[in-house]
Amino acid sequence: MQNDAGHPVRYPEGNVLLRHLARDFPVVSHGEGIYLFDTQGKRYLDGSAGALVASVGHGNREVADRIHEQLLRVSYVNGTHFTTEVTEQLASRLCALAPAGLSRAAFLGSGSEAVEAAIKFIRQLWVERGQPQRAKVITRVPSYHGNTLYALSLSGRPHYKKFFGPLLSEVVTTPAPYPYRSGLEDYARDGASYYARLLEETVQREGPETIAAFIAEPVIGSSAGASPPPPGYFARVEEICRRYGILTLADEVMCGCGRTGRFFASELYDFTPDVLVLGKGISGGYAPLSALLIRQEHLEKMRLGSGGFMHAQTYLQAPAMTAAGLAVLDYYERHGVVANAARVGEYLQRRLREVLLPLPSVGSVQGVGLMAGVELVEDKASKKPFARSRKVVEGLLSELFAQGLVLWSNTGHADGTNGDLVMIGPPLIITEAEVDELVEKLARGITSFMERL
Ligand code: PLP
Repeated sequence: MQNDAGHPVRYPEGNVLLRHLARDFPVVSHGEGIYLFDTQGKRYLDGSAGALVASVGHGNREVADRIHEQLLRVSYVNGTHFTTEVTEQLASRLCALAPAGLSRAAFLGSGSEAVEAAIKFIRQLWVERGQPQRAKVITRVPSYHGNTLYALSLSGRPHYKKFFGPLLSEVVTTPAPYPYRSGLEDYARDGASYYARLLEETVQREGPETIAAFIAEPVIGSSAGASPPPPGYFARVEEICRRYGILTLADEVMCGCGRTGRFFASELYDFTPDVLVLGKGISGGYAPLSALLIRQEHLEKMRLGSGGFMHAQTYLQAPAMTAAGLAVLDYYERHGVVANAARVGEYLQRRLREVLLPLPSVGSVQGVGLMAGVELVEDKASKKPFARSRKVVEGLLSELFAQGLVLWSNTGHADGTNGDLVMIGPPLIITEAEVDELVEKLARGITSFMERL
C-alpha cells in the first residue's frame, strides 16, 4: 500500500513476526524531540518515550553524530580480545556516578540480558563462596524484569508466563508495595514495616540459607504503573537482607538513567544494592544497550577464585552500543537532562493530580519524576476496577493514539494487583509547555471516552 507521496504506509500483511498479527501499523518516517511523524504526515506526542526509552528525544543529532563517528572508527571488537575507549569511558563515567561501591560495569544489549547476567553473577558468587545451596531468588509481585526465560521467571506478572511453564523454579515471591490497593489505612506510615514483614516471612519460610538474592525495581514500572516505595521501605529491606546474608539487586532498567529526577532511582530511596542494572534510557533508543554495575568486593572474590565471571555473549560491550551510551551521557551533562527531569517531572506529577484526580473514573495518580501511572476505576468510592472483558484501557489508548497521543497501558487484573493503568513516561527533555499539551490531551481523551462508555 502506498500514500500520495508513493511511500509505503501500512503493512497489514507484512512479514514482521513480532508485532500484533491482526492489526496494521502506521509507519513512522521520522522523529523530532518528543514527537513522532508517520508517512502520512500525522504527528504523535510520544508520551511514553516508546517504552520509556527515548530519554534524549527523537532525531537527536548530537547523539547520532557521535555514534556515526564511532562506527567509522570501529563498530565491533571481540570482547574476549579487546576493549575500546568508548566502553572504558562509559564504564568509568557510570561507576563515578553510581551509588558508592558499584565500581565495575559490564554492557549488554537489553534489560532482560542484564537481569539474567546479574542473577548468574550472584549465583556464581555463592558457588565460589562455598554456599551453592543459595540458589533461590526472591522477587516481588507485581514486577517485571524481562522476557528471556530467567528474567521472565523473575517477573511477577503471571499472565506473561502462561504459555511458557515450567519456568525456573528457584524463584519465590513476596508482595510489592502498590499504594492505591495496599489496603493499609496509612500507607506512608505503615507501608515499609508491613511489606518488610511480608518479605521476612518469605525468607524464613523458604530458609535463609537457600536464598541467593532479592530483586526489586526501586520504582515499579510497567507492571504497577510507576509505583514508588513507601518511605523507609528499602532501609528495612536492606536490613533484612543483610541480616540473612542475601544479596540485593536493583532493577533500574525502567526507572534509572534520570527518569525519577535522579540518575539512579536507588539513591532516591536510600537503596545501596550489591548489583544494579540499567537499560532503556541509557542509550535513549539510539542502540540496544544495558548495563550491569557490580561491587568491586564481589568481583575480587571471583578474581581470586575462578578468575572471573563466566558469561559471554557476542554483543558484550560492543563499541557500536557503548558509543551510544557515552554520547547520551554527554548529552545529559551538557544539557542538564536529569535536572530537567526533576524540575519538569515535579510539574508533570502536580498537573496530573490537579487535572485528572477530579475526574470520576480516575482512582489514582502515582509516580515520581517523569514516570507516572493513572489507574482508571468504575467506582471511585469502592475502588472497583472495570471488568477486564470491557478492555477499557485498550479502548482509551487506541482513541488517544488516533488523536495523536501515544501512551502505554497495563492491566494487572489477571494478577489481581490493579485495574486498568495508563503509563506516562515522556522523553526526559520534555518542557512544561509540552507537559501541558500531554495532560490536556489525556484529560480530554479520558473525559470523552468515559462519557461514551
Ligand atoms: N526490567 C524492567 C524494570 C523493565 O521495565 C524491562 C522492560 O520493560 C526489563 C527489565 C526488560 O528490558 P528489555 O525489554 O530491554 O529486555
